[in-house]
Amino acid sequence: MTFATLAGSSTEYPVGKILCIGRNYAEHIKELGNEAPDEPVIFTKPATSVIGDGDAIVIPPYSRDCHHEAELAVLIGTAGKDIPVERALEHVAGYGVAIDLTLRDVQAELKKKGLPWDIAKGFDTACPLSPFVPADRVADPQDLRIILTVNGETRQDGSTSLMIHTVREIIGHMSGIFTLEPGDVILTGTPSGVSPIVSGDRLVAEIPGVARLQVSVK
Ligand code: MG
Repeated sequence: MTFATLAGSSTEYPVGKILCIGRNYAEHIKELGNEAPDEPVIFTKPATSVIGDGDAIVIPPYSRDCHHEAELAVLIGTAGKDIPVERALEHVAGYGVAIDLTLRDVQAELKKKGLPWDIAKGFDTACPLSPFVPADRVADPQDLRIILTVNGETRQDGSTSLMIHTVREIIGHMSGIFTLEPGDVILTGTPSGVSPIVSGDRLVAEIPGVARLQVSVK
């Protein structure tokens, strides 16, 4: 079992559902040539896809094009269903940074055929996840910088202020579909700058003042 840890707390949360939103930053929609969706695009990753700081990504042999997507990760601490947007942040235990690894070539084929994305998004090691900081240490989740470097070179440098759907709105919307439980993790979409990674690369994802995550590619 995988556990999410909260800095300064002895509470560990067994990771439950990992709920992800796609196409939540306009510049990223543009760079992939996608249409801006009317409704949030939602997909999930299994808990078994999580790896931690210092671990290694293993790109499955059926892909030749694995992309990084650095994202603000939200750890749910209090269960809820149909959570009102104005109370949504009360359900958050902590914030961290995640990398939503995506097999872009596999995903493109699946999209063409109208098939689900699971094998492009949910494979083992597809969800590097940092430790979390308690929610009360983050004044405003819509005012955070997200940076991702590969071998020291900056590839992504965005701000959560550019999200189309805010963290509150995402929690409100998702909790209308899925009951949220302690240990569930929400990935909130990636800013622009996604690019391929290859064996030997060293990735650092960081939300300054909140979380830092370093992983390598096996
Ligand atoms: Mg993503």
